[in-house]
Amino acid sequence: MALDVTSGPMKGKLVIRNVGLMLSGDLAQPILDADTLVAVDGKIEAVGRAKDVDTSAAKQIIDAHGCALAPGLIDSHVHPVFGDWTPRQTQLNWIDSFMHGGVTTMVSAGEVHLPGRPKDIVGLKALAITAQRAFDAFRPGGVKVLAGAPVIEKGMVEDDFRELAAAGVGLLGEVGLGSVKAGAEARQMVAWARKHGIQSTIHTGGPSIPGSGLIDKDVVLEADADVIGHINGGHTSLPEGHVCELCERSTRAIELVHNGNERVALAAMKVARELGQLHRVILGTDSPAGSGVQPLGILRMMALLSGLGGLSGAEAICLATGNTARIRNLAGGLLEAGRPADFVFLDKAQHSAGKDTLECLEVGDLPGVGMVVIDGIIRAGRSRNTPPAERVPEVVGH
Ligand SMILES: [Zn+2]
Repeated sequence: MALDVTSGPMKGKLVIRNVGLMLSGDLAQPILDADTLVAVDGKIEAVGRAKDVDTSAAKQIIDAHGCALAPGLIDSHVHPVFGDWTPRQTQLNWIDSFMHGGVTTMVSAGEVHLPGRPKDIVGLKALAITAQRAFDAFRPGGVKVLAGAPVIEKGMVEDDFRELAAAGVGLLGEVGLGSVKAGAEARQMVAWARKHGIQSTIHTGGPSIPGSGLIDKDVVLEADADVIGHINGGHTSLPEGHVCELCERSTRAIELVHNGNERVALAAMKVARELGQLHRVILGTDSPAGSGVQPLGILRMMALLSGLGGLSGAEAICLATGNTARIRNLAGGLLEAGRPADFVFLDKAQHSAGKDTLECLEVGDLPGVGMVVIDGIIRAGRSRNTPPAERVPEVVGH
């Protein structure tokens, strides 16, 4: 189960019935009036009430037994290397463990932990293209890992970005982790990347590990990357006032990470909410990192923002799904027709003080994961990592 070569989506019809709470992933309408979902060939076909949806001729039926159904969670910020191995903490099967935390898609912010990572321009391009290809062909635990995120270095020219884009690279690794640390220089390269359809993320805050550097608010504003990466630091944050200023003065995505400053994550979320711009807030773990890997990191961010920050449980789900998908240009993240059949079944954790999945988050607990589905294929039943869900779904027919 841990290692999985991509085998394509489920063939045929999947029916999920008796969903107790349908969580859309869309901040505009986080809860749908629906108890049934139908997917065909790994894509959602219909979401609605059982009487209104064609559930005939199902190849597989899952009875949710009243659990909540949400889009698979998305981790906006990871540092994979190759396969399901991380040299950062010498750990195996970390991506599969994240899948047990409800994560079905991850976005690389740079394969920076590769031992001997090349820093010359041809080498960094070759690594990015190789990583993109490798994770496209190989999905640990079924998780979709968007990798191949080059760390830009001094001396790159527009043709380098054109070449990367033509080769299938769609992301930049964190700007600032390489030799490009000045605002004007970063701004030029970010603009070249954007012109050729490559999305950029900037490292924000103090150095992560010995050897990396500070990126302050003025550099973040000048570089104007698409995503203000770990705006709450990775781990060391800019002063809270500077982070709030970034939220106010920039229109770019506000990424909050687990391996960052929690106090500042709460402050940034609150500013975004006051500005009426919660749609800009996305969640990541920034793992593997010095503090390890966190299979439940996205759930923990949701519980932090909800339990301590006052966000509703339903809104917290949207930050980790629909928001990230929209900003990262991903097909998933929403329960609506045409989207990939990537799901997480949730229920309140056994003995949580919260009475249901959402209240569980609102009192600061992690909900339990009862099943994970990717492209219509069941990848895990009851999670080995979350607290046990009170109810779990069951396969009832083929
Ligand atoms: Zn960083």
